[in-house]
Amino acid sequence: MKIIKPKGPEIFDIELEKDLLAKNRVLAKGNRRKLDQSKIIAIDIMGSIGSGKTSLIKALLRKLNMGEAIGVIAGDLTTTIDAERIEEEGARVIQVNTGKECHLDANLIHRAINGMKLDGVKILLIENVGNLICPGEFPLGAHKRVVVTSVTEGPYMIVKHPYIFREADVIVLNKIDLAKAMKVNPSQLEKDARKINPRAPFIKANALKGTGISKVIEALGLE
Ligand code: MG
Ligand code: ZN
Repeated sequence: MKIIKPKGPEIFDIELEKDLLAKNRVLAKGNRRKLDQSKIIAIDIMGSIGSGKTSLIKALLRKLNMGEAIGVIAGDLTTTIDAERIEEEGARVIQVNTGKECHLDANLIHRAINGMKLDGVKILLIENVGNLICPGEFPLGAHKRVVVTSVTEGPYMIVKHPYIFREADVIVLNKIDLAKAMKVNPSQLEKDARKINPRAPFIKANALKGTGISKVIEALGLE
């Protein structure tokens, strides 16, 4: 089989990209400083479309039961569907629409945290745009990063996206109740994850039912 792979110098705009990522890192540090000054723990929640990022956030809000002491930044291309779903749980929500941008970046988060009332907020949950590729490259200044994946995405989701799983502090395998129906072996997915990222706890969950959510809270140090 013929395989075409990129060679370093052949990638277009590599200098531009380096510059962009460096600028993002500086802004991310600024965000972290502001969050630390305000004594807020921020969590960046990444994962593909339909993996259950919003459902996980809703489950965390229900379990933590802290009302407006939790703020949520909902990232999405154009809609406010997720922000509305999250608002039902009584959290303080701000919607960030990225337009065509397929990830959140530190500048958008900078604008969001400056446009949000942060007094009394202790935890900030950030729902990244649904995508398993570039969000990993753009740290936002959050203290921890979660990658949510689900058994409905098939058996190869983790091995095919090593970069983002390497970035994770916690990996959540969602919709665990559907594993059999999807003919996906959760233990194999766990092995794949361990190989790529041995340090991140791997938690099997069913966000809709609340299964595994206490473990996620513990792994994120939110108790
Ligand atoms: Mg969502
Ligand atoms: Zn992107």
